[in-house]
Amino acid sequence: MADPVRLKPRRPCPICKKPSLQKFHPFCSARCAQVDLSRWLGGSYAIPAVETEEPSEGDLDNGQRLD
Ligand SMILES: [Zn+2]
Repeated sequence: MADPVRLKPRRPCPICKKPSLQKFHPFCSARCAQVDLSRWLGGSYAIPAVETEEPSEGDLDNGQRLD
């Protein structure tokens, strides 16, 4: 059960899922590397604002309900 250890497993480009090139590791191209960078810097990759939905008053605490 000894799998051969690959020193440099090829991982797909995280941007477009194409096989990555060592030159642009871990991306497949300079473009994808730039895309990733711009996502981090430009904010287009921003996490959508999480609006916590609080239960409106009255929905809860209306006593026990027996279904
Ligand atoms: Zn790519």
